[in-house]
Amino acid sequence: RTNTAVPGLASTFADELGALTVPWQGAPVPDPTMLVLNEQLAASLRLDVHALRSGDGVGVLSGSAAPTGAKPVAMAYAGHQFGGYVPLLGDGRALLLGELTTSDGQRVDLHLKGSGRTPFSRGGDGFAVIGPMLREYLVSEAMYALGIPTTRALSVIATGRPVHRNGTEPGAVLARVAASHLRVGTFEYAARQGDLLQPLADYAIARHYPKLIELPANGDGNRYLTFLEAVVEAQASLVARWMLTGFVHGVINTDNTTISGETIDYGPCAFLDTYDPTAVFSSIDHSGRYAFGNQPAVLKWNLARFAETLLTLIDQAPDDAITAASAVLDTFDERYDGHYAAGMAAKLGMAGTPLDPALIDDLLTMMKDHGVDWTSGFRALADELRGNSAPLDGLAPREHTEPWLQRWRSALTHHGRGAAETADAMDRVNPLYIPRNHQLDAALRAATDGELAPFEKLLEVVTHPFDRRDEWSDYTTPAPPSFSQTFQTFCGT
Ligand code: AMP
Ligand code: MG
Ligand code: MG
Repeated sequence: RTNTAVPGLASTFADELGALTVPWQGAPVPDPTMLVLNEQLAASLRLDVHALRSGDGVGVLSGSAAPTGAKPVAMAYAGHQFGGYVPLLGDGRALLLGELTTSDGQRVDLHLKGSGRTPFSRGGDGFAVIGPMLREYLVSEAMYALGIPTTRALSVIATGRPVHRNGTEPGAVLARVAASHLRVGTFEYAARQGDLLQPLADYAIARHYPKLIELPANGDGNRYLTFLEAVVEAQASLVARWMLTGFVHGVINTDNTTISGETIDYGPCAFLDTYDPTAVFSSIDHSGRYAFGNQPAVLKWNLARFAETLLTLIDQAPDDAITAASAVLDTFDERYDGHYAAGMAAKLGMAGTPLDPALIDDLLTMMKDHGVDWTSGFRALADELRGNSAPLDGLAPREHTEPWLQRWRSALTHHGRGAAETADAMDRVNPLYIPRNHQLDAALRAATDGELAPFEKLLEVVTHPFDRRDEWSDYTTPAPPSFSQTFQTFCGT
């Protein structure tokens, strides 16, 4: 039977790198219900919304029916999980349906999560449940609205299948769209298979850094060394965006680190309430390896694992390869610092101006010492410039903030823009609405119990992070301390 709900699916990855894939299909879905469909994203993929909502569309997006001509595959990859190497992970509950071309000509993956067991499932059941799939949907779309590179969410379909977690929970399948699903872990796997490495690297370069494919394969300035540099830059920029937004990924294993520079895998992620570099939310991160403040160092560690996979391509002489790759890795700190400082200058109303690093450090110390809410704090600073000091006074005692505020005001004077104009510019980069942990948690609990309205409302708010609306005032409220003290997130649910 022909199913044309998702026409035009290509399969360049499966065709060119078949050894990294296993042709596979999703499990049957007993009783599918579309919980949420991203109509704007569908339109940018040139997909017909009515077709996606039809039986054929729901079949494709839940994994029970592949579009005619598609070649769905489970992808193989390895990865360092919490620092320990696992030689084979792979899509244990996911399928790459194929690739679509967006209206601006970008090739993107259409991928399902929760679609049933695969040859990579190990002990897992291959399924996913409503709460965590809606969580990925909402947080990834919030990140997109915040301007942070990320995979996106096309739909979540409830399957009608009871899934065993903490008790029984309703099953669900997420359809995700990504620049690709190539990970550091894909390279770790391919590098140990020998001849797959160069085709994989050339595929990744052509797809994500196409200008580099013109570079020679060997010698000075070769394409693989330049590819490493491009990925280092993309990840340094990405993690700076996380740090500026108070985003804690929670499980930055090398299999969750993309080659494209997009954020991927919204399992145990969370947003900071109060600023705290030691913040950990994931129930399994006992050592704090993926604590908020460790994220840049962890990404750099992951990039070192990536660099190791490329050594034989970078230079046939091992010592020279190591020297060249190390020099590129060493640029990570400077790149990260540059992105972070530039972002912080914009958050403080001085976009384009080099800031005194001490002004940033002292702000962070002040925020930490007084438990200032990361998101509200920057909006309060803009209000302070508008002559309304009440919000800031609610966050920290004035006698402790005044010395820093004076230094900031004097830096702003040098920058030379008017107060109102500066405050407005700050409000355009400092979000008012983020997915606050307590609100997201409540919305997901309600959705699991069949009540979608709180989720839909929160989704609407966090996908408009900078637009103040009076009726959304509840969504700026930090979690009560009693919530934050016990809040935990979970992987693989
Ligand atoms: P993650 O921590 O989400 O990055 O997942 C790590 C690995 O565990 C990947 O290979 C996943 O495919 C696999 N995995 C996670 N949950 C399940 C599940 N319920 N069934 C099978 N495999 C899973
Ligand atoms: Mg993962
Ligand atoms: Mg995951």
